[in-house]
Amino acid sequence: MYGVTVLGATGSIGVSTLDVLSRHPERYRVVALTANSDVERLYEQCLAHQPEYAVMADANAAQRLHERLRATAPGIQVLAGLAGLETVAALPQVAYVMAAIVGAAGLLPTLAAVRAGKRVLLANKEALVMAGRIFMDEVRANNVELLPVDSEHNAIFQCLPTDLSAGLDAAGIRRILLTASGGPFRTIPLSELHHVTPDQACAHPNWVMGRKISVDSATMMNKGLEVIEACWLFNASPDRIQVVLHPQSVIHSMVEYADGSILAQLGSPDMRTPIAHALAWPQRIESGAAPLSLFDVARLDFERPDVSRFPCLRLAYEAMQAGGTATAILNAANEVAVASFLDGKLPFTAIPAVIERVLADVPTREAISLEVILADDALAREAAVLRVDEATNKRT
Ligand code: NAD
Ligand code: MG
Repeated sequence: MYGVTVLGATGSIGVSTLDVLSRHPERYRVVALTANSDVERLYEQCLAHQPEYAVMADANAAQRLHERLRATAPGIQVLAGLAGLETVAALPQVAYVMAAIVGAAGLLPTLAAVRAGKRVLLANKEALVMAGRIFMDEVRANNVELLPVDSEHNAIFQCLPTDLSAGLDAAGIRRILLTASGGPFRTIPLSELHHVTPDQACAHPNWVMGRKISVDSATMMNKGLEVIEACWLFNASPDRIQVVLHPQSVIHSMVEYADGSILAQLGSPDMRTPIAHALAWPQRIESGAAPLSLFDVARLDFERPDVSRFPCLRLAYEAMQAGGTATAILNAANEVAVASFLDGKLPFTAIPAVIERVLADVPTREAISLEVILADDALAREAAVLRVDEATNKRT
């Protein structure tokens, strides 16, 4: 029996994780569930999964959850805030931690799981984008099994040899081919991009996801963040990672070897497959995902990404090349710009413009400590708010 903590249980990945866990009650036990402020959904999940702990990042929400559980499940201990998240990521009875909080808020709770030596199932790519070097150093120092849940990175993991310690060249790896669907706006005329709405941006052709990552997929910042994530996970330089547009989202990514072989992982676009893989590795368990019918898929298409349509992809490569805190600044500016777009304040095409300005506004430093990274994250958020206001005032 493996004890599991699900950080971000009420989100898209969290719900899929609980679905996979509930298919294997003899193998996994839910020890802790966490959410930001969605009391109703976490309450329902508590009744269904009977964890020992429930954590709400928001203190008022924690109080409300506590009151609701008192009558129906008084044995569940309710904790609040970052301290609560870090506590349940490091409990001795927990073996696996699903890191599925969205955005920068996931960094410290995920690091707490790493420092406690848990197997970490990493969906929260922003943690690596912000603090890749420190994060990976802690992974090595604590002998952590880090299993990527992001479908592309999970696919790459499955196509790679197990020992990468001597680097990509020693393992005979030429390139990583990171596939991307291109999102909902791959083909709409550039002149219409300015007017797209949050609901259009969140209507992904192949995946149902949280709203932030859906907008990131529409701008292709998601792919940019994934390039950075892949660099850290697989010890690769950005020039070794080629983004390949593949609109069907059937191949989840590929690895090209020195002898000319390309290995790919295919499957239905269903996050339960990488979640089940990360949970059971090196074994395999049933995930609930529908089998892929190659006859229904019939064909696989590939295209080169159009950087003029997707400037966020360029910004992410540039930030990774710049190094230091540049990727934390990129991430913070993106979070503010995306939230402003979702609030209806910022036009879609202003998202990359805001990020580019913030990268120029906030000087990059060496990412020598978490404190420095979090300080630059905060500076970037302040700068981004100003740049969003500027863009909004220009409109009105
Ligand atoms: P989501 O918005 O559906 O869920 C986010 C979860 O994080 C929720 O449980 C929410 O309560 C919690 N949360 C939000 N803000 C918080 C805060 N400040 N403190 C504590 N908890 C907070 O997001 P999602 O789509 O499930 O994505 C989660 C992560 O997984 C993201 O990093 C995303 O990039 C990554 N990911 C998602 C998918 C997908 O298919 N949804 C695929 C690959 C990677
Ligand atoms: Mg992905």
